[in-house]
Amino acid sequence: MSQILVFLGPPGAGKGTQARVVAKELGIPHISTGDILREAVREKTGLGLAAKAKIDKGELVPDEVICGIAEERLSKPDCVGGAILDGFPRTIAQADFLEGLLQRTGRGKPLVLNIDVATESVLRRLTGRRTCSTCGEIYNIYMNPPRQDGICNKDGGRLIQRADDNEEAIRTRLKAYEEDTSPLIDFYKRRNVLHHVDGSGEPEAITERLLSFVKTHDYL
Ligand code: ADP
Repeated sequence: MSQILVFLGPPGAGKGTQARVVAKELGIPHISTGDILREAVREKTGLGLAAKAKIDKGELVPDEVICGIAEERLSKPDCVGGAILDGFPRTIAQADFLEGLLQRTGRGKPLVLNIDVATESVLRRLTGRRTCSTCGEIYNIYMNPPRQDGICNKDGGRLIQRADDNEEAIRTRLKAYEEDTSPLIDFYKRRNVLHHVDGSGEPEAITERLLSFVKTHDYL
């Protein structure tokens, strides 16, 4: 049966970087609510205009909005073989919603991977993050710099810094994580679906750990 993988972890844990690679490797979609929202902001849709201020400050977007986005995306045909959720759920209300949705659609419980990182390393990861404006590839100027400053190795696109990767927004995001998202660790532990993966070290080493976990747990 197809299963949904949920990547949990604080901002800067490497969820997005890893989810992109692992999804590609497994041949399933990578669903990032943050990416969907940023795309809506770029395209100036109603959703984007409503969400922009909250995202830029590092605050969470309301549960109803996010749950609607997730439901719509998960109902697309490319998700029948599974998907990786990155950045959703982020609150207990969202996790309850997802649980109901997966039950209703006969998918059963998700497999939840918590990417463990020390909080000290998170700030450097976030302030150093740069993203390709065309293909979305993620770099870090301290740990994983592009070959040429400001230019994507893959397609030569311009690298940009996210509006919410400044110190004040980062502080707000970390607070939102502590208050709203970290309770999900217990939520999923009680359902016996939570697993921990060491998120320290080189990105490639973390990918290997995630993939070997997924393979040994008979995912897909
Ligand atoms: P990060 O995990 O690096 O902080 P994301 O790209 O996942 O960043 O999310 C960026 C912003 O988008 C969040 O700070 C929040 O404003 C909004 N967002 C994304 N996913 C959710 C969600 N599930 N619930 C509420 N807000 C969300």
